[in-house]
Amino acid sequence: MPKEAEITRVEYEGPRIALYTRKPKFLQQNSYIISDIVNNVKKRVVVRTEKTIRKPEEEAKSIIDNAVPSEADVKRMFFDHALGEVVIEALSPKILTGDKDFNIIDLTEKSGWKIRVRKTPSIPSSSIQNIYYALQSGAEDRQKFLRNIGEEIFRPRIIPKNDITIYSLGGFKQVGRSCILITTSESKILLDCGIHQGVKETWNAYPRLDWVDLDLNQLDAVIISHAHLDHTGFLPMLYKYGYKGPTYCSDPTLALMTLLQNDFVKVASKEGRNILYDLGDVREVIRHTITLPYGLVTDVSPDTKLVMNNAGHILGSATLHLHIGEGVHNIVYTGDFKYGRTLLLDSAVWNYPRVETLIMESTYGAKEDIMPSRIQVEENFVNTINNIIKEDGKVVIPVPAVGRSQEMMFVLDKYMREKKMVEAPIFIEGMISEATAIHIAYPEYLAKDLRMKILVDDENPFLSEYFTIIDHPNNREEALQQGPAIIMATSGMLEGGPVIDYFSKLASSEKNGIIFVSYQIPGTLGRRVLDGSKQVSILDDRGKIKIMDVNCGVSRIEGFSGHSDYNQLMRYVGKLRSKLKNVIINHGERRKIENMANMISRIYRIPTQQPSVQEAIKVH
Ligand code: ZN
Repeated sequence: MPKEAEITRVEYEGPRIALYTRKPKFLQQNSYIISDIVNNVKKRVVVRTEKTIRKPEEEAKSIIDNAVPSEADVKRMFFDHALGEVVIEALSPKILTGDKDFNIIDLTEKSGWKIRVRKTPSIPSSSIQNIYYALQSGAEDRQKFLRNIGEEIFRPRIIPKNDITIYSLGGFKQVGRSCILITTSESKILLDCGIHQGVKETWNAYPRLDWVDLDLNQLDAVIISHAHLDHTGFLPMLYKYGYKGPTYCSDPTLALMTLLQNDFVKVASKEGRNILYDLGDVREVIRHTITLPYGLVTDVSPDTKLVMNNAGHILGSATLHLHIGEGVHNIVYTGDFKYGRTLLLDSAVWNYPRVETLIMESTYGAKEDIMPSRIQVEENFVNTINNIIKEDGKVVIPVPAVGRSQEMMFVLDKYMREKKMVEAPIFIEGMISEATAIHIAYPEYLAKDLRMKILVDDENPFLSEYFTIIDHPNNREEALQQGPAIIMATSGMLEGGPVIDYFSKLASSEKNGIIFVSYQIPGTLGRRVLDGSKQVSILDDRGKIKIMDVNCGVSRIEGFSGHSDYNQLMRYVGKLRSKLKNVIINHGERRKIENMANMISRIYRIPTQQPSVQEAIKVH
């Protein structure tokens, strides 16, 4: 390090090495110095400003305010004291990142804070606000936490032998409570930590951490593939019961999972159900989370490197690649993935240089799970809606807040604008608008066209004159009054949420129709209705059980799914075939998993396993 860099400290910061400097400008102008170090130490290196040069928050804020052109329309700034970073959220961030007159390096020199510029959604996201708050209030502990994690990750290896075992703790021969433990001679890593919604009995609702007798202090890392509760709903419990280590996921996954976990707590307490954990435990998750971008190699334990890549399932979803013991063994866990493009997201990444063991989801693993082409799917969807609207009926579309609802919004808006769909008001209720705000906050994770629209054209493709947001139960009258309408509401499987109210008021009339656009887990009300139940029991808003008739039309349109269909699953394995030694199938109904495993071993001649929950597989 040249003297001019004025480096004062070198410290671990989680999986990175932080260099503290009094002259940030020097290192930013001579970036080859850092590149050389990275090439030498083969670790991630980040430059931080020394605490003594950081101006007090108020002063720094006014320095930045004065320097930033008003056209950027800065909405807020977040000072991260643990990292010495300030996030500037602007409506038009491209003015700050592309403008020649605006110099970020100079601003860092003047304020003493490292500057990051981000797009702020036109509707502010309360989940992102929650994350800022949790980080701000825990800044000091977080700094210590990051240093300790670094010491753990970069400690020398103790055992030269390589034993690698995969334990199935949840989400095997079933959909729900996804959780996998991977142990090597040096480390213990948990992939996903979900709950099984719709299951009441404890042994079947949560991951079987008890079965492996897992000491939470021995766990090196938790890695989360995506935000859905069947992959993240149990995570706050780990922190509640004493886990102090890191959780790794993408930025949007952190925001979306905070939204879903907070909602899970709120709904449970409103309905008087047994509450697993509280909002404080969700905050602990945030404070211990280290977010990673796609495609970056990161050490997560002394013998394991992680790379996350786009999985195409929901915003921020990732396939997880683990490179263990200097290349002794490589594992890819797909999480939920879509090997195919949607309007919202690009297709899942498949070109891994090495992968010996593939752990793959199989939600649509049966032979009949072949989805029609996207054009046919949309045609089908439009016709189904038109038939109901023409009869003066109402359409109810139960959607999960995250993923399908944003895709459906595009489709509805597109066909109405093109006049191919009969015009009718579209009402949206549930956490959909908050989830949509998070989509706009992370455009770099969206499909290319969409990303360009948001970042370059400054458009908000999620806005449409046809949409009306229902933000309070009292305003549901508008959606329920006479006349045709389309109502999109959460939850996606009729397990609670505002959709229940609409369903209970509309399902008895033959004129109306309910359209399922996402996978329905067995045991949920959505699945019962889809399977043809003519009479179902629901909990009304006062928590009373009500028996009701289902006379409305019930349809299922599968092709919008964020999961790969049978053909896409087979094609994905085919792409990796020459590298694979072993395939493990999970996340699917028993029959579908059996079919998938049989087809892979028969067609590709790769040994394929289909473990149940509570099995151990030694892969090396
Ligand atoms: Zn999912």
